[in-house]
Amino acid sequence: MRQPLVAGNWKMNGSSGSVTALVEGIKAGIDAVTAAEMTVCPPYVYIPQVATMLAGTAISFGAQDVSDQEAGAYTGEVAPGMLFDVGCKYAIVGHSERRSIYGESDEFTARKFAAAQNAGLVPILCVGELLEEREQGITEQVVERQLDAVINLEGVGVFGTAVIAYEPVWAIGTGKTATPDQAQEVHAFIRARLAGLDQAIADGVQILYGGSMNPGNAAELLAMQDIDGGLIGGASLKPDDFLAIGKAANN
Ligand code: PEP
Repeated sequence: MRQPLVAGNWKMNGSSGSVTALVEGIKAGIDAVTAAEMTVCPPYVYIPQVATMLAGTAISFGAQDVSDQEAGAYTGEVAPGMLFDVGCKYAIVGHSERRSIYGESDEFTARKFAAAQNAGLVPILCVGELLEEREQGITEQVVERQLDAVINLEGVGVFGTAVIAYEPVWAIGTGKTATPDQAQEVHAFIRARLAGLDQAIADGVQILYGGSMNPGNAAELLAMQDIDGGLIGGASLKPDDFLAIGKAANN
């Protein structure tokens, strides 16, 4: 039985004041979320503030990215051990904005995944195809290539303590959502790909859907067999919407 996970990716949004209001709003309604684990991924600088505010609650938190290096002369980077030190549970790796805007490759993403896990964090590995790749009919090849970069570096066993997020790039921040059937098809493909290597790992790994998930479409997406939660961008900045998505996983 896989517990649903609803993760908020705040991206580069917020201020100390808005972070306080957002976290207070989530805390105020969290009791109505009965099944899902809720986690938030603030910008790095607000992580200590969020950690203090979430102390003693069941809401976890993580980072939106992480360095592939442990420590040293890497100006501007944040080490996975530092994130673990301030209480992060998760680190998102390979978000499509990291891949497309900052040119992060499959192999670099795999090294970040490994570094995060070695430091005690649970990586949330984002995979997903561009619109033109879907139109070319190569969605599965793209997702397989992104998954295989991690499997080739570390073996399939690492997915025993990791999360996968399927995020069709054409659905991120666009208001276009994959239909439940479109999403389920790729989620099932991912699980089958892992099952070909290790059935127990495939059965246990949480696979989240991301791409314009909102209170209006969450329930039907979350009802699909292989969709174990959501990675939420825009809607995670509004406490009521974020909580509504969490509640959609109650049943
Ligand atoms: C994301 O950034 O991971 C995401 C899914 O964004 P949105 O929900 O805004 O599409």
